[in-house]
Amino acid sequence: MHVEKRCMKCQALMELKLRRVVYMNHMEIDHVPIYSCSQCENNQLVEYVKEDLKKLLHEIGQMHTFEGCISFACHSPFSDLLLRLSQQSYASIDDLLDLYLLALSLKDRMWVAEIERELAERVNCK
Ligand SMILES: [Zn+2]
Repeated sequence: MHVEKRCMKCQALMELKLRRVVYMNHMEIDHVPIYSCSQCENNQLVEYVKEDLKKLLHEIGQMHTFEGCISFACHSPFSDLLLRLSQQSYASIDDLLDLYLLALSLKDRMWVAEIERELAERVNCK
């Protein structure tokens, strides 16, 4: 599944990816969904997960001794969904429907159209 946006800096396509980010030089947070530009170094956090990430960083800030890596998927339903989709070559209809509702709520028309196309293909195959 490809979800793409245009880069604000260079207008190239940006791709949705799950990235590992380093926080405070010693904490790693895995599976953070970001848009990554294929041409320049522009990375953009997916707006939808900002609140979840803020909450997680706040929790981490209170764990003074914690070091290592945690998965953002345990703290964000959206990240969890993307992670599951990325791990299977074929998304289940349930996952697609979840994603569809999410895309609708984000009012992301390109994404909605893409999922509709994928759902239609599934229906035609059966
Ligand atoms: Zn760019």
